[in-house]
Amino acid sequence: MLKLFVFHVLSLVERVIFAYHSLNQPEQVILVRLRLGHNRLTAHIYTKNRLVQSPKCPCGEDQTAEHVLLRCKRHDQERAVTWPQETTLQQKLYGDVKDLRQTTSFIGAALKCAPIMEWEFILASGRSSF
Ligand SMILES: [Zn+2]
Repeated sequence: MLKLFVFHVLSLVERVIFAYHSLNQPEQVILVRLRLGHNRLTAHIYTKNRLVQSPKCPCGEDQTAEHVLLRCKRHDQERAVTWPQETTLQQKLYGDVKDLRQTTSFIGAALKCAPIMEWEFILASGRSSF
């Protein structure tokens, strides 16, 4: 029984690692930032060094990765196109290669429609680059 459990856990870990390493470098960067919460969303930037005036998204909730991926009304359209069926945060961040590519694709689409990461941070801080 224990052997079966260990095999199952190792199999899951292998799948997560394989999926991550199947992504290209820019996709990996997006995914790691989303997973760790160490990103340029206002909730993190506000907590870290107050370069923005509020942790809030323009929709009113704290702008975290979970908020952007699951609930932000500003990105409902891109979310519906990317994930026609309900998808969990776990699947979006730790799923198979297809799931992870959908997540990075969603972030790209969301950035085009309503800048949420780098651009708001750059504008808020007055910097033109890092
Ligand atoms: Zn929002």
